Amino acid sequence: MAEVYNWQIGRKMEYPYEEKHPKFQFAAVFNINRCIGCQTCTMACKATWTFSDGQEYMWWNNVETKPYGGYPQHWDIKILQLLHDEHQKAGKEMVWNKNGKSQNDTPYGKYEGMTIFEAVPSYRKDGHNVALGYIPSDKEWRYPNYGEDVPYSFTREFIKETDLPEHKVWFFYLQRICNHCSYPACLAACPRKAIYKREEDGIVLIDQKRCRGYQKCVEACPYKKAMYRGNTKVSEKCIGCYPRIEGDDPLSEGEPMETRCVTSCVGKIRLQGLVEINQDGSWKEDESNPIYYLVKVEKVALPLYPQFGTGPNVYYIPPRWVPKEYLRQMFGPGVDDAIEKYSYPSRKLLAVLQLFRTTQKIIFKYEIKEGEKIFENEKWAMYNDTVIGYSKNGKEIVRTTVEEPFFIRDLKHYNSI
Ligand code: SF4
Ligand code: SF4
Repeated sequence: MAEVYNWQIGRKMEYPYEEKHPKFQFAAVFNINRCIGCQTCTMACKATWTFSDGQEYMWWNNVETKPYGGYPQHWDIKILQLLHDEHQKAGKEMVWNKNGKSQNDTPYGKYEGMTIFEAVPSYRKDGHNVALGYIPSDKEWRYPNYGEDVPYSFTREFIKETDLPEHKVWFFYLQRICNHCSYPACLAACPRKAIYKREEDGIVLIDQKRCRGYQKCVEACPYKKAMYRGNTKVSEKCIGCYPRIEGDDPLSEGEPMETRCVTSCVGKIRLQGLVEINQDGSWKEDESNPIYYLVKVEKVALPLYPQFGTGPNVYYIPPRWVPKEYLRQMFGPGVDDAIEKYSYPSRKLLAVLQLFRTTQKIIFKYEIKEGEKIFENEKWAMYNDTVIGYSKNGKEIVRTTVEEPFFIRDLKHYNSI
């Protein structure tokens, strides 16, 4: 195994291949607080990519209700349990050391437990078992909506207190796609070298001609986003809507466009883009890129299970009403700061949050024009700033304000539908 630097866990880690990084990386921010669980994203993906025979059970995008939901069923509990068991055997703990937290290369501190690449028992590291994992059974793929809208309660009874910050009865929606990881476990585990990461955008793809259907990717991906197709006998996965990212969609006018799941989002919870990557895998400093700003500057959006070690590139703004202990396990120790920042957003953060789902084109750069103060209390103030988004070629593609325009319907339209 080689040693690579994983900034999400703040340290070097074992990985089967030497350090090599794309020029740009596909990345997205999903704001859990805004998701209404409508599954429009899920259906947009299905109707575009997985509507054929043999793909019936494939939901490259799925939205599951936590804590009970999961597709495949219990995917995260199962991998966490496997990881926990290996730590017990090795006499180690899955803990974070928060020293150095908020530095650029260790933003959440240092994870001192083992990743899925490090927790494979040495007798199994035979070249075909490079990561801890399992193949879900057919039964576990049966119910994409398992546990939908089922709340968890510590007290098992509905109580009167339902004020923020934390509810005692809670659930939340977790929107999931392939994370196009920086250190993909699917790619590392493939004995045919059929999986590759594209240099131009970091999208992870399976070469259908090279794949022989050994399902090593299905076993190794901790997020269970590589899927086997029985009738073609090869594996498939989310392709990051790469024709849209390349600007080949007829609507795009040659500009990179966001994916189908992102552009169809009714709750306006998703923002997707490309961040520039340095040769050592760090993100090139660029505060005017909205994804860079949200992840690296404000640190309001966090990776899903960073302790797995794959360097996932979908980042989540955690839900404000959920017990922090649960969220820390899922998004790492950055949760408390992220929720604080989201609850009392800075002037800039509030403006950047308005960019979500305002255009189908990828916003590479934003600019803010200051407006009037419209609200203030002891914790924060709100300004009606204007935020402008620019495409890859520097064209203005969106202009919006913090305060949404308010329209009053003319009386002549009263009951006129
Ligand atoms: S989420 Fe899974 S399938 Fe996607 S790149 Fe990461 S390891 Fe591979
Ligand atoms: S379309 Fe948006 S709001 Fe609806 S379920 Fe998907 S992520 Fe949530």
